[in-house]
Parts: sequence; C-alpha cells; structure tokens
Amino acid sequence: MMAGPLDAVSRARGALQGFEPYDPAFSATRINLSANENTHPMPASYAKALADACAAPLNRYPDPMANGLRDVLAQRHGVARECVIVGNGGDELLFNLLFTFGGEGRTLVTCPPDFSEYALFAQMTDTRHVAVWRDGADWSIDADALVSAARDAALVFLTSPNNPTGDVVPHALVRRLLDETDALVLVDEAYVEFAPEGTSVVPWVAQDPRLMVLRTLSKAFGLAGLRCGYLVADPAVVDMLGAIRQIYSVDVLCQSVATAAVRSRDALVPVVADIVAERERLALSLSRVKGVTVWPSAANFVLVRLDRASVVRQRLRDEHSILVRDFSYAPGLEGCLRITVGTHEENESVVSALKAILEGE
Ligand SMILES: *Cc1c(COP(=O)(O)O)cnc(C)c1O
Repeated sequence: MMAGPLDAVSRARGALQGFEPYDPAFSATRINLSANENTHPMPASYAKALADACAAPLNRYPDPMANGLRDVLAQRHGVARECVIVGNGGDELLFNLLFTFGGEGRTLVTCPPDFSEYALFAQMTDTRHVAVWRDGADWSIDADALVSAARDAALVFLTSPNNPTGDVVPHALVRRLLDETDALVLVDEAYVEFAPEGTSVVPWVAQDPRLMVLRTLSKAFGLAGLRCGYLVADPAVVDMLGAIRQIYSVDVLCQSVATAAVRSRDALVPVVADIVAERERLALSLSRVKGVTVWPSAANFVLVRLDRASVVRQRLRDEHSILVRDFSYAPGLEGCLRITVGTHEENESVVSALKAILEGE
C-alpha cells in the first residue's frame, strides 16, 4: 500500500467529523477575565489545606467512585452519598449524561444562548438537539414553549445562573418541567454560589427523582485547574452514570484537594461575598461607559453589549493586555462580550480601558 496522507476524519464516526481540537491559544495577558475563574487571592487557611492535600501518594490507583469526596459533598448538601457522583470537571458529567440518556432517537432540549458544550456533546453523541431560544432583550425563557418542547425529550438542560447571560431560572419553570413532562431535568448550577440564597434546587432532589443538579469546584472554589465537578441526583441516575464512567477519571490529587477544599469552604464565604459586591460595582461602572449596555448578573461575570465588540475586545487585549470573552459571533449574542468579575484592581482596569477605547476616540 502507498503511504499517502492519513485521512483520519473520514475514518471517524460520522457524528464526529466536523470537530476540531479545542485550543483557545490564549496569549498571555496582564489581566485574564475571559474564563470565569476565581482570580481573588485565597484565604491562608484555605490555601494551606489545599497545599497539604497535594501530598497524597500517587503510586496507587484512585478510588474509582471517590467515596471520601462523595461523603463530604453529601454532607455539604444534606443528602446521602448515593445521591452524589463526581466527574473530571462538570464537563465530563455533561458528556456522560448525553452518552447515557441521549443518543440516536433521543432529544435534548436547551435554552440558548447558554453553555456551548451542551450542543457540542449532543452532536457528538448523536442526540437530537432542540433549542428553545431565550428572549433577546431580557433572556427570559418562554415557559409554555419549553414545556411543550420537553414533552418528548429525554433530557432538558437549564443553566442557573446562565452562562453567558447571568440570569437565574425561575423555580416555577423547573417545577413545571418536572410536573408536566417525563424528561430528566438537569439544572446546571456552576455559578450558584454567587446567586442569592435559596437559588439552588438541590433541596428538591430528594422528592424529585428526575431532577439532577450539576455543581463544580471550578468557579467559586477557585479550582478550575483541578477538574472537579459533581452531580446531585437520584441514586438510580448516579448508579447508571457510575456504571458507564471512565473508572479513573477523578484522580488521586483531585479527590484529595477537592475533599480539603469542600471541608474548608467556610473560608471562602468572604471571598464570594467580595466577588458579588465587585460584580455589582463593575456592572454599575460599565453601565456608565458611553455605548455599553449591561445585563444584571447573578454569577461571577457580566454580559455587555456594545458596537464593534470584536474590535473592542481586540483592543482591550492588544493595547491594555486585558482578556475578555468575545461572544459577538454567537447566535443571539451579537455585539456581546462577557467579562469575568476580577479583583477590585482588575475590574477598575477593565472599566478604565473600556472608557479609553469607547470615549477617548
Ligand atoms: C464552567 C461551567 C461548567 C463546568 O465547568 P468544569 O470546569 O468542567 O467543572 C458547567 N456549566 C457551565 C455553565 C459552566 O460555565
């Protein structure tokens, strides 16, 4: 046989042929407010607990089900260990949900603009995807349209607070989905620590076996690099996901550090409170910049709309060394940039840089 160039794409399964490696090729910037990470300095007690936990021995395989970590998470939420499953970031759990409960002949319903991974994972797993688009002005969801789309669906994914729009899903809407459809309903609460008390629907899981709640340590806990997310769900869902998962995807360091982080979570209360206060200050300052529209947010980022958003984002990067996320190419998000809430100094920098760009020209 002749050794021509290898066409790996045509050898791949059909559903996977349009995909490319995800490499955002971040240039190093002075200030990075592009990925909703926690940029605040961590309290000494929290940092020390995490550093100590890094001394875990690595010669042994991890506990596949991460039972020690499940126990501290279960305790955090007042549920049984059997209601918790840990993943290599929330992303792995989202993929596994579609891999398990989606697939050919099954439908996922989402409400975009939302987290882009949902649609990607649906496509990869041959799951039909039905989008119930949010209102373009206030991002509200048409409850009747969603309930009717969800009637034949295997899965519904809602994000609360939503990324990138920042709004919270009304509890009444989750209630209706559970009462009026037979779908498995996932509420993705990646940012819920930044939302008002009482936003989480985790307390409903005990009574609502079709409700599943996704949480992550990547945002409020400041551990995006660790890759730790978890699902609070009915034990039957947890068992099914436990049966299909890559058995060692949650490694020894992840289990050890995440356990320490969750045990030390009280130390984070003032950090989260500061991010929330900074979010409100940032939103107000941005709303005073000429030509900028800001939506209210219950998360650790704000979504803004402005003219020539792509150019502005590029100038922030090239002239001010500040990175924010460009959504202006995304359907429904024309002219939109997402700005992560940083430290007080970082937030001041992004506001004054935007002023310089938008008002100085
Ligand atoms: C960040 C995020 C997640 C999970 O991220 P991981 O780092 O994989 O845990 C899930 N959903 C949304 C909406 C997010 O923004």
